[in-house]
Formats: sequence, structure tokens, C-alpha cells
Amino acid sequence: MKIVICGASAAGLSCLSTLIKQKKDIECTIISEEKIYPYSRCLLTYHLGREVTEKEIEITNPDFFPDNVKWIFGERIIKIDTNKKNVFTDKGNCFEYDKLLLALGAEAIKPPYMLQSDRIFNLRYLEDSVAIDRKLRNSAVVIGGGFVGIKTAYGLIRRGITPTLVMASHYPLSTTIDEETGLIVKDILSGMGIQIYTGADVKEVRQKNSILYLLLSNEKVLDCDVAIVGKGVKPRVKEIDNSGINIKTGILVDEFMQTSIKDIYAAGDCCETYDMVMEKRVINAIWPNAVEQGYYAALNMLNFKISYPGSIAMNSIKTDYFHLISAGNLKDGEAKFFTHYVKSKKQLRKIAIKNGQIVGCALLNDPDYAGVIVELIKNKKPVTDTFVDRVVKGSISPLEYYRKFQEV
Ligand SMILES: Cc1cc2nc3c(=O)[nH]c(=O)nc-3n(C[C@H](O)[C@H](O)[C@H](O)COP(=O)(O)OP(=O)(O)OC[C@H]3O[C@@H](n4cnc5c(N)ncnc54)[C@H](O)[C@@H]3O)c2cc1C
Repeated sequence: MKIVICGASAAGLSCLSTLIKQKKDIECTIISEEKIYPYSRCLLTYHLGREVTEKEIEITNPDFFPDNVKWIFGERIIKIDTNKKNVFTDKGNCFEYDKLLLALGAEAIKPPYMLQSDRIFNLRYLEDSVAIDRKLRNSAVVIGGGFVGIKTAYGLIRRGITPTLVMASHYPLSTTIDEETGLIVKDILSGMGIQIYTGADVKEVRQKNSILYLLLSNEKVLDCDVAIVGKGVKPRVKEIDNSGINIKTGILVDEFMQTSIKDIYAAGDCCETYDMVMEKRVINAIWPNAVEQGYYAALNMLNFKISYPGSIAMNSIKTDYFHLISAGNLKDGEAKFFTHYVKSKKQLRKIAIKNGQIVGCALLNDPDYAGVIVELIKNKKPVTDTFVDRVVKGSISPLEYYRKFQEV
């Protein structure tokens, strides 16, 4: 059987390694637009922070290169002929498949003002980090208060540059966490020396020699060497838009990770999958979800017929100043929140429940409970108000808590 994998990152590599481990009679071709060996995208902010080298973020696995796997680097897929089962690349090559995986990932959103200067970047690919590095001397502005924006700001601090942070919302991480937690994080970020402008966006861009001027909607003018935009991502589907595969925001897949076209599968940031908490299809664009989806896609390509149970939103930021883990849905207006905050330690434990089930959590400087709570969210175990109240107040230890959970 001929298998073609498009994309060599979390989802594509997980699919590849699962196929290899199954030791079936396959010929596999894995194609990536990037010219370099696969690497961990999650470590890009550390690369920008000069804490790790290009070599250190490579995903090295000697098992990826058996004789029946062909690697194609530096070629972009530009077309799929789903009738003839062919994939075409920009280098004029055509690859035939019996089963195809689309693991094309996502691309960072580029506001129009990015076109006005060569000093405004996204941070999505390793080449972005290298390009920023070339222009960055001692000042930077990060635009966007999401996870990538905050991780980028921290990377810059590790490099010795404290950036200014501009965000449209009035607290950081506003699309994933609740206001109370977000305002505490904002406080911590300010304490790290970061100047934060909330409720603001870039209105105009000017550049004089090597200085970039950002005119904000609040009339402030910021000057810097570079600006890094982290305003979210969108699935990388433009190249396959007219292939006949059903796409909403991302590629739509069924429980077997198969798209609307037989023998074509999708996994990772490029596709919409069932969210166990929201109970609808969303894009939960994080590394572990992409890995899991690549695994299920591989097994189903080999006809195991195993359903993917679904994903949940999850995020973790660990810095020298704070450690935040959030999971599930903390933005549900109908949920009931249980919170315990120890101000002196900046330690917060928050659990959201709805219909007697945990639907979300935020754990600030308190990572011990995370694994168990995420399991509770995924397994939809029934919980009582009293139980959750005791958990957030810490009157049940994580171990007792886990035992209780098993008894419920
Ligand atoms: C700076 C940063 C920090 C992050 N930190 C975290 C974190 O801490 N934790 C976490 O869980 N997640 C994190 N993420 C998100 C995580 O990296 C993604 O969810 C994950 O990489 C998704 O994997 P993927 O395989 O779906 O797609 P991607 O990693 O986007 O890879 C897609 C691959 O497909 C290739 N490709 C795309 N289009 C084509 C084409 N037409 N032809 C050929 N090849 C193509 C690309 O070159 C790429 O190799 C971070 C992301 C960024 C940018």
C-alpha cells in the first residue's frame, strides 16, 4: 500500500512513527515544505530566546528512516487529484497514493500592517525565528496576548530584552481563560517588567532606517527593532481548497480521522475535530492533540477502525515567574466556578463545573492536580459541588482526590 503524508510536524510524524511500528507492507512518502529536518515548534520561543540551538530543537529519531520511507523536504503540495489519487508539488513532482494524510498544520494570522515593514514578523516556523534574530538588537514589541504572544515575550526576556506587550483584549489569554485568572497573569507579567497596553491594536506602521514605529489605537507610539505578531492561527488549507475535500474553517474529519473523501485523512492543526467539552467540532491547535490525531489516522489508514475520542483545549506556560495550566472551557457563562486564591503565593486553583461535571480548570502556580483534573474533564465523571469545593481549597490531597474520583 502506498501512503503519502503531507506535513512533517506533530501530526505527520506521529502518523509516520505509528505506521513504522505496525511493520505493515507499506511504502510511505512524507513531504514537507520546510527544507530542514523536523523540529519542535513548541520550542521556537526558546530558540528565539537563545536558550536552545537549531540542532537542539530537531526531532531526532533514527527509526524515521527505514528503507520503505521516502523523505521529501522543501516541496510544497499545490494540488491533489482525488480521482487519480495523485499529489502534486511545486517542484513538478507527482506522488501516487492509496491512502493520504493531510497534516498541513496552521499558519499565523498576518494583519495587513505586516506588509508595511520588513521588521514585523510572526513566529510560526524556524525561519521566522532566524529572521527575527537577524533584526533584533535590543527592543521588541509583541502584539497579541495569547499563549504564543506570552511565550514569545518570555523568550525575549530570557534573551535579555524585556518587550512591550500590546493586546486588543483587556487581559491576557482572553480566549482561553476567565477574567479573574487573566488579570492575575497580567499582574505577574507587569511584575516581570513588561509594559502592557490592553484594549489596543496597531493602527499605523512607520519605519525609519532600522527603527520601527508602531502607532497604536490609543495614540501611543512605540519604537522598536522588531514587532512579533501573535494574533492566532488559521488552518493551512489554501493549497487544497479546490480539491473537493469538505472544509469549514479547517478540514472536516469523521471519528476515524477520514475526510469527506475516501482514503484521505487529516490530523493536527489543519483539521476540526470533536471537542469533548464543547461537544462540537473545533480546532484545538496544540501539539499533543496533533500527535494523538496522527496516531489515530495511521491506525485507521491500516483499517483498524478505531474511533478518535476527541480533544479538549489545553495549555501550559512555565516560566521562572509563574506556571499556568488551563484546560477545557473556562468561558462558559452557564458554568459554576469554584476558586481558591492565595494572593501571597500568586497561587490559584479554579474549577468550572456544569451539569455535575468538570468542564474546565485553571491552575496557577499549582500544577499538581492538572493530570487528574484533565482526566476528569475528559471522562465526564460526575462530581458534586462539595467535592469540587474541597478540591480547590486543598482539603483533599491529590492522591485522595484521585481515589475519590475512581470511587465516583
Ligand atoms: C511559537 C509556538 C509555540 C507553541 N507552543 C506550544 C506549546 O507549548 N504546547 C503545545 O501543545 N503547542 C504549542 N504550539 C502549537 C503546536 O506547535 C502546534 O499545535 C503543532 O505544531 C501542530 O502540529 P501539526 O503537525 O498539526 O502542524 P504544524 O506543526 O503546523 O506542521 C505542519 C507541517 O506541514 C508543512 N506544510 C504545510 N503546508 C504544506 C504544503 N502545502 N506542502 C508541504 N508541506 C506543507 C509545514 O511546513 C509543516 O512542516 C506552539 C506553536 C508555536 C508557533
